[in-house]
Amino acid sequence: VTHCAGRTLALFGLGGSGLATADALRAGGARVVCWDDAEASRAKAEAAGHEVSDLRTVDWSGVASLVLTPGVPLTHPEPHWSATLAAAAGVEIVGDVELFCRERAAIAPGAELVAITGTNGKSTTTALTAHLFRSAGRDVQMGGNIGTAVLALEPPAAGRLHVLEVSSYQIDLAPGLAPTVGMLLNLSPDHIDRHGTFENYAAVKERLIARSERSLVGVDDPACADVFERAVEREMRLHARHLGPSGRHLPVSVRQDLPTGVSLSGGHMVLMRPYDGRERLLGGVDGISTLRGLHNAQNACFAAACADLLGLRAADAHVIQNGLNTFGGLPHRMEEVGRSGNTLFINDSKATNADSAEKALLSFDRVHWILGGVPKAGGIEALVPLFDRVARAYLIGDAADEFARTLSGRALSRRCGTLAKAVAAAAADARQAPGNQTVLFSPACASFDQFRNFEARGDAFRALVSELAI
Ligand code: ADP
Repeated sequence: VTHCAGRTLALFGLGGSGLATADALRAGGARVVCWDDAEASRAKAEAAGHEVSDLRTVDWSGVASLVLTPGVPLTHPEPHWSATLAAAAGVEIVGDVELFCRERAAIAPGAELVAITGTNGKSTTTALTAHLFRSAGRDVQMGGNIGTAVLALEPPAAGRLHVLEVSSYQIDLAPGLAPTVGMLLNLSPDHIDRHGTFENYAAVKERLIARSERSLVGVDDPACADVFERAVEREMRLHARHLGPSGRHLPVSVRQDLPTGVSLSGGHMVLMRPYDGRERLLGGVDGISTLRGLHNAQNACFAAACADLLGLRAADAHVIQNGLNTFGGLPHRMEEVGRSGNTLFINDSKATNADSAEKALLSFDRVHWILGGVPKAGGIEALVPLFDRVARAYLIGDAADEFARTLSGRALSRRCGTLAKAVAAAAADARQAPGNQTVLFSPACASFDQFRNFEARGDAFRALVSELAI
């Protein structure tokens, strides 16, 4: 990051992206004073040669900005002490995405930038969008909330496209984020801890759309549909002499056939109907194992439409279809991890709540369903209507008693305790059943009763499947 050369910045939060930010700032000639409440993180920063100093004693008069790691509260429930101190001293508070945007403005203002947000599907859509452009031969950098911290990526440059996943925390700390294409996938009342209320959470996401040069907005849930309506209204007021919307904001739906916007034709083909009327089919998701389910069709609609907006034309030797076909998927999200005889093994360890597990259950017919862990409020009550897809449920972890009660009389279930026992039992039952069977690990629970995190849990499942004699 060269635009901060010669300045002093304070940085709070030395986790992965914080450290990468400190590295990038220092490499660009800035002085960075960093701090973290955790001793271990401070030690790591010191070992990397950074200036670690308690920000409670820093002289803020010489500090240009406080760089705050996303996840550290800015407003809710109470601002973090470092934010309070900076605000009292009149020092601006920004995040790494803001620094990236300023760098882009300084060194490559026209460089293309895609920013993706929403409650669910961010990572999948980000990875798929990047893949579509990459497989068409474009120079793509992908990161942000997924994978590499934004300031550890190659810098913006003419001809290079950055595809960033941004959480609401990151949008909150990036007032200058004005992407070439902004996407808001969906909004549901999750993650409202920091932003206080759902309205506030939605408003943060709406800011991204309001500042995007072009936008794609999901209209299949009411909160998102409202964001789209308001964006179009603003547009119409701004360009009062236009008789219709400018086409800056496009709606996306997998549930309705939109006269204008992006929708699904025949249930699986992404259909782009821009305001100029020249509708086109961008590509289909039928039979693509990494894009199973209607939720992934939604992700594909966004990614394909973005590719189209930025100039990848479906007509050119099927570039978009080719990209969809070759998408590798993300680990732990309905990931195929094995096949043995009639049985397919699916790792959906990322499904930490009933909402995500629902998407997985909807994608298969005969399911040997391994679930459990630390249950969320409401458990699996919401999934009762899908129990007819369940051949048997195999229960692990703390949730076993509660889930057994919900399943009782509605679907067969067995208490297995550990994941190893569940995999063995489910694989044996599936093998004996006639026709195609699926062993689905979609826990609908947090993992920390038995695992470090959902990644470790999914890795354990994958290892157990590979140890089965297949
Ligand atoms: P995020 O990055 O927003 O957490 P991911 O792409 O990692 O989302 O997907 C996480 C889980 O959310 C998936 O396993 C799936 O169950 C669900 N999901 C994915 N895409 C969508 C979508 N478009 N709508 C609703 N749920 C989705």
